[in-house]
Amino acid sequence: MSKPILLSTPHMGDRELEFVKEAFDTNWIAPVGPHVDAFEQEFCQFTGAGYAAAVSSGTAAIHLALRLIGVESGDEVFCSTLTFAATANPIVYQGAKPVFIDSDRTSWNMNPDLLLEALEHRARIGKLPKAVVLVHLYGQSADIDPILKACDRYEIPLIEDAAESLGATYKERHPGTFGKIGIYSFNGNKIITTSGGGMLVSDDSYLVKKARFLATQARDPAPHYQHSEIGYNYRLSNVLAGIGRGQLQVLSDRVAARRRNFEIYQQALAHLPGIAFMPEASFGSATRWLTCLTIDPHRFGANREQIRLALVERQIETRPVWKPLHLQPAFADCECIGGSVAENLFAHGLCLPSGSNLTTEDLERVIGAISAVYYNTQKSLSSLFSV
Ligand SMILES: *Cc1c(COP(=O)(O)O)cnc(C)c1O
Repeated sequence: MSKPILLSTPHMGDRELEFVKEAFDTNWIAPVGPHVDAFEQEFCQFTGAGYAAAVSSGTAAIHLALRLIGVESGDEVFCSTLTFAATANPIVYQGAKPVFIDSDRTSWNMNPDLLLEALEHRARIGKLPKAVVLVHLYGQSADIDPILKACDRYEIPLIEDAAESLGATYKERHPGTFGKIGIYSFNGNKIITTSGGGMLVSDDSYLVKKARFLATQARDPAPHYQHSEIGYNYRLSNVLAGIGRGQLQVLSDRVAARRRNFEIYQQALAHLPGIAFMPEASFGSATRWLTCLTIDPHRFGANREQIRLALVERQIETRPVWKPLHLQPAFADCECIGGSVAENLFAHGLCLPSGSNLTTEDLERVIGAISAVYYNTQKSLSSLFSV
């Protein structure tokens, strides 16, 4: 039995353990401490964000962002449809309702024209959303400028979900730092990980201070426990922040390794009929957090599911591209503007093993397995015709 090849696994560098040991040696095993402060500062240095608050997950960061913007019961929030459920769940935690927006084909992210049209329409009928949540998917930035311009025109705050795109660029700057608030994730499958964790960033120091306050149970300054607001237990542990500091030091290497995976896959597979790799938009550099491709079953001879299952048999984990949220039962009652692009990407899209710690042999095994599906279908087709 060959060893399993997984989609995206943690990849530690040299310094993480040292930072964790320091936390133990100094007894800072709390959701506060010097690593938390340093991680926030170093994260700002890397991304160019003004201020940052380290929290327990990317989902928690999105929830805090919505709270800070004042999203509440009865509000609507526009949101990318092609994404992980964690992008939209916190909208529902707040009692608000997501309205989903389709992707464009060049970035696979929110279509700026659809957003603008939808906002124009909503302005006419006096029903503007309270916020827009924009996702930067699979390591690639959305086309932020026209989206920001549309939001600014109607004074709607933009929240950027850059959970999957730390290390990417948009016109030389980091996605996540353009909107009112940006969020990142350090979950186990992301490009760098703290096992679990997230970051909320903003250029508004008040918002980030308030995020830290809400994330630590909204304790008013008083010797007894005094609360004027409802808070959360969302702060990041100082131990995990130590891991994050180590991971941040190797982030550029991780980006390079994932881009290399993509190059190798592309060189080996792009010539197969019906295979198209996720495009890289001209406005920035993608991290290729996951290498994604689409399969045209008529030209390739097998569909996405047939390929996925053939790879499962060889102990290779792949995943369909995110199922659009407007197709999810949990969001069945939510409106979606457009939707066919995301639906098409879901129907034909596959994410390949993409970890920064994959070996050349691992990549060759994946390439060999996909090529074998293609050549086997060609063989069975030709034997069919020769009968
Ligand atoms: C992973 C992810 C999140 C959630 O982050 P967690 O740290 O797992 O809570 C949110 N949005 C997207 C697009 C993600 O991929």
